Parts: sequence; C-alpha cells; structure tokens
Amino acid sequence: MERSELETRIHNWIQTNKQPAIDLVSDLIRYDSVNHVVTGGEKACNVHVANVLIDTGLLIDMYTPDDVKELREHPAYFPGKDYSGRPNVIGIWKGSGEGKSLLFSSHIDTTVAAKEWQIDPWTPLMKENKLYGLGSFDMKGGLAASIMAVRCLRELGIRMKGDIMIESVVDEEFGGANGALAGRVRGYHADAAIIPEPTNFAVCPATRGGALWRVTFTGKSGMSFSGEKIVNPGNLAAKFIVFLEEYEAARATQPGPSPWYEDDSSVLPVMVTRIEAGDMNAVLCDSGPAECYVDIWVECYPGVSEEQLKKELLDGFHSKYGLEAGEPLFEKVIRFLPGAEIPPDFPLIRQLAQEMEAVTGRTAAIHGAPFACDAFMFNLYSSTPAIVMGPVGANAHGADEYMDLDAFYDLIEIYARAAIRWCGMEDTV
Ligand SMILES: [Zn+2]
Repeated sequence: MERSELETRIHNWIQTNKQPAIDLVSDLIRYDSVNHVVTGGEKACNVHVANVLIDTGLLIDMYTPDDVKELREHPAYFPGKDYSGRPNVIGIWKGSGEGKSLLFSSHIDTTVAAKEWQIDPWTPLMKENKLYGLGSFDMKGGLAASIMAVRCLRELGIRMKGDIMIESVVDEEFGGANGALAGRVRGYHADAAIIPEPTNFAVCPATRGGALWRVTFTGKSGMSFSGEKIVNPGNLAAKFIVFLEEYEAARATQPGPSPWYEDDSSVLPVMVTRIEAGDMNAVLCDSGPAECYVDIWVECYPGVSEEQLKKELLDGFHSKYGLEAGEPLFEKVIRFLPGAEIPPDFPLIRQLAQEMEAVTGRTAAIHGAPFACDAFMFNLYSSTPAIVMGPVGANAHGADEYMDLDAFYDLIEIYARAAIRWCGMEDTV
C-alpha cells in the first residue's frame, strides 16, 4: 500500500473516531487522580487505563513501584513516598521483531485542583472546541492521544515491525518521578520514548531542571531591652528575596545553552512559594523571630547540578549583601530534578517534526521544554532516549485547564504516523 493512501486511511479513521477520543479523555478526567504527596489516588484511573489497553488488544503489566524490588536501591530513587495502592500500568503491542520499538510514557496523577476553577474540575466540559477538566492538558489528553493512535493502527489492520508500548505511571507531579523510574527498573526500555506532556506541539528533545528548597535564616530574637544585639532573620530573608528577583531578571538577559535553549525567550523561574517567620499560633508576636524560612522553586538548564545551582544563589547573594547577610540553611523539599537532553541528531526529533508539519501544515518548533518533568529518568538513567511532545491547550497546574480538541485529533494523527515511521510496518495490510 502506498503511503499517501495509508495516511488518508489514518486521517479518516481519526475523523470518524472523534467522539470515542473525546470520551476517553473525559473518562480519565472524571477520575480524581490528584497527587497528595506522600500518598496518591491514581489506582481507579489506572485500572480504567488498563481496561482500555486490554480492549485495544495490548498485553498489560500492572505493578506498584513497591513491587519493583531493586527500585529502592537505585541512585535516582527518592524516598519518603507511600506507594500502597498506586499501580503503574503498561500495555505492550509486540511487533514482528525487525523494527525499532517505541514507548509512549505518560503520568496519570494531577496536581491539586486550584481554588479558582469556574467548573467542577472532575466534570469535563466541552466549550468552543476546548475540553476543560483537571488533567485534560497535563496530561490525560496526551495519554489518550497515544492510546487512540495505537487503536487506529490496530483497527486499520496495520502490523508493526517494532514493539509499541504505552505506559501510565503514578507520582510525577511535585517532583515524584519514582513512577517513571519504576518502569525503567522493571525493564521496560525502547529505542525511543515520546512523553506526551503538554508542549503545544513543540518537539522538545530537552527538559529543564529545578529545585524546591526551604532556605532558613536564623537570627537572634528578643526586644533589646538591655542593648542586646538582635538579628532579625526576617530582614535577612527579605534581602534574599530582593536578590532572587534580580537574579531571575539577570538570567533572563542571557541566552540558554545550545542547541535547545539558546533562543529560549521564556524566563527561568525563580519563585518564592512560601515564607514563614514567627509563631503563627501565638495571639500576637512582640519580639523578632528566631527563624525565617523562604521556600523557593528555582529552574535550571540541562547540565546544571544541584550543588552548582545552590552555589550560584549563595555566591550571588553574598556578593550583593556580604557575608554578614548570613549563611542560610538549604533543605530539599522535593528531589532535585535535573535537566536533561538527547543528542541533536537523534532521528525521531526530525521525524516527529516532519509528521507534525505534514499533519498541521505549520512549521514545527523544536526547542527545549520550558518546564521540568520526568523525561530525565529516561535521558539520564536509562538507555531509552525520550522526546517530550504533546497537546495544545493552557492552564496546566492552574484553574480552568483545557486542551484544544482540533489539535488533539491532529496529535493522534501525528503519533500514529510517527509510530509507523519509527517502528516500521509490514507490507501486507
Ligand atoms: Zn505533567
């Protein structure tokens, strides 16, 4: 069969299966799979995913991270989470064996619903070609697109040469990443992975890293009745915050590293997420606090280590305010998420971009993702190179998150075509 004819069949199948595709995402949104750190509630949703994968004709493996015996000894494992009743699921479609294998890897957990939602976050709503719901964009829509792509190929009677796998893992939000690691340690490797995180169709061969630290300043409390020297840690923390704002602005004027971030126009966030000082339970406070902590989220580019990032912050702070501004204590609130990247000549990068261009008629953006995710578990800790590329939409991690539906159908088509190109197909259809 000629490619163009096959492409038409794929396109037509997707056009006639829009409703099942919408239903699939909607069903996933209806399951509350919020990550509650340290527990989570992904089970019901992943059981549903497992049933869908079985209905699609795939062999499945369902296991919790705790079932993966060697996981806790792995250097990238981050302890402290409770994985009871939180299964990963993977569906496997065996190819004839002569092609390259492809793994679609999604996470099924969502962040906590923001207070400002105008609708119930777990009741999907379609409006003006957008599907609203918690996780619609990050990343139940992308997961559904990968499942629909495989369903399309199978229903068209296409036989693949390489294996295709679809996994849905637990605990990615809040720097989890142990769910994705569990899949690798359990032995699910492929010649390439696509992570359908929300990139608005950008092909992202790199991801940013980030650290969430609690930075604690210690002072000397009291009221100085007898001339005691009072050191107010709140004042030190205030200086630190002023420094952080300048640090963020200064970094924004510099180009990121080549090749994936040199044209990065978005700011690398340096964000204060919480500040606390003084006794919050006291009726009122009449002396300076002994301690003040500032929680900060700081992003970085691939290749920057946790120690380098911390040193840059401390050096910058001291060069502005001197050593007398104090030596705050840095404590990890979540694991450090390293940035990661794959080689520029990895063939799936161009192939995905070409399929995106063929399906949408637009030029593909190829650049580093403007966020951190668990792609680093593939690109730093496994033999599977991973590219992040997923749906169009907005408001991930915020109120009124949505996914664009026309782009969703296109994404299914892009994934189906990319899978054929990467894995190869048998001639007889
Ligand atoms: Zn995500």
